Amino acid sequence: MSMIDSVVIAGAGQAGAWVARTLRSEGYAGRIVMCGAEAEPPYERPPLSKEQLVPGAPGMTYLIGAEEFPELSVDWRAATSIEKIDRASRRVALSSGRWLDYGALVIATGGRAHLPPIPGFDLGCVFTLRSLGDARRLRSRLLPGSRVLVVGGGWIGLEVAATAVQAGAVVTLAEMGPSLCARSGSPALSSYLYELHASKGVNLRLNTRVVQLLGNGQDGCIAEFHDGSKHEADVVVLGAGMRPNSEIALEADLDCDGGVVVDAAGRTSDPAIYAAGDVAVLRTSDGRKLRLESWQNAQDQGIGVAQSLLGKPVQYDPVPFFWSSQYDALIQMAGNPRDATQSLVRGVGRQRTHIGLDSSGRVVFGMCINAPRDIRMVRRSISDTSSDRWQPMDGFVADGSLTS
Ligand SMILES: Cc1cc2nc3c(=O)[nH]c(=O)nc-3n(C[C@H](O)[C@H](O)[C@H](O)COP(=O)(O)OP(=O)(O)OC[C@H]3O[C@@H](n4cnc5c(N)ncnc54)[C@H](O)[C@@H]3O)c2cc1C
Repeated sequence: MSMIDSVVIAGAGQAGAWVARTLRSEGYAGRIVMCGAEAEPPYERPPLSKEQLVPGAPGMTYLIGAEEFPELSVDWRAATSIEKIDRASRRVALSSGRWLDYGALVIATGGRAHLPPIPGFDLGCVFTLRSLGDARRLRSRLLPGSRVLVVGGGWIGLEVAATAVQAGAVVTLAEMGPSLCARSGSPALSSYLYELHASKGVNLRLNTRVVQLLGNGQDGCIAEFHDGSKHEADVVVLGAGMRPNSEIALEADLDCDGGVVVDAAGRTSDPAIYAAGDVAVLRTSDGRKLRLESWQNAQDQGIGVAQSLLGKPVQYDPVPFFWSSQYDALIQMAGNPRDATQSLVRGVGRQRTHIGLDSSGRVVFGMCINAPRDIRMVRRSISDTSSDRWQPMDGFVADGSLTS
């Protein structure tokens, strides 16, 4: 058992909650203090762009309910940010003005919505989506017939577009690049998403950059696009990616590179400080730097950090996994499409599986639409190093959809 007498967790989100929960479930008896900038207990964010945006949204499921903190003997400080790390004296400054000592510190501060440098992004009709508070504010504006402009064709923008359409809104989506979800690296996915949203009536405008937002004299906005054309909307939702909340680490001179750099044990460049979740950049065994923005990663890396704190050997080496649900499509992806040199496909339309193979025929990526059994095989296959690993044969045909 570790000799660490107290663990302070910065951030009461998905990763932070799993650190606390795992520490207790694996027998840690020392003090745990969890400081969260939000007033809410830790909750899962995926519902925020889906069921939480519609009228009559169900109650949230908390990762640790407020009543559970005393049972777990975790000192949860709600609406309390960690503002500074003093590494020399191993203490942190809180937004309450107090200081707190730590034996080990875990940075699990996630990220915030990126605000593109567009004049007018601070107008009342402009929304971002990262927290439950954001979802509640946006929900009250997604009404039948309301004109919604989504800026950004990434995951959050597309999920908001789908939810808004289903709420009866009239949706336009402006993406400055030539394809949707281009960052995911799969041309097959981009074209699938385009067809899906177009078929549901979303007005998709690719290669379209918003240069300015102006008030329309009522509650709405007028967006000006790069070509001078204008578009009026009641609600504008910015889905322009996120930025990791790594400022406290940077100011404390920890190794940061687009997030807080950690090793496979979750340790930062200071052996008493760990990081997990969206804020953490994993230095992989082959020297790559990997920052994942996904529910699965936040949970698994949080669990790994807790085990490291308990003195267990941890080699966190994740197979990236992400899912999204839009309309009636469950989209699940595992692995990295950029590692694929050939691709196979099975199925058509609303149910299909794309597989990426490397030059040795090994499965390195899968994108499954409404095919949950296939994604299980893909995930198992990517991590399986044995020679009798899954060979995707039945019904698969070669195509260039991932590699073209
Ligand atoms: C709208 C939305 C939909 C999503 N949908 C999916 C999905 O369908 N599938 C999927 O795989 N992933 C999805 N994700 C991503 C997933 O939710 C995140 O990857 C995950 O929440 C990351 O967990 P985290 O603990 O690292 O950060 P977070 O969950 O963001 O938690 C970090 C917490 O730290 C707090 N904080 C920040 N700075 C400080 C500080 N200095 N001191 C104290 N507290 C601080 C923040 O306020 C926040 O509460 C979605 C994310 C969003 C926003």
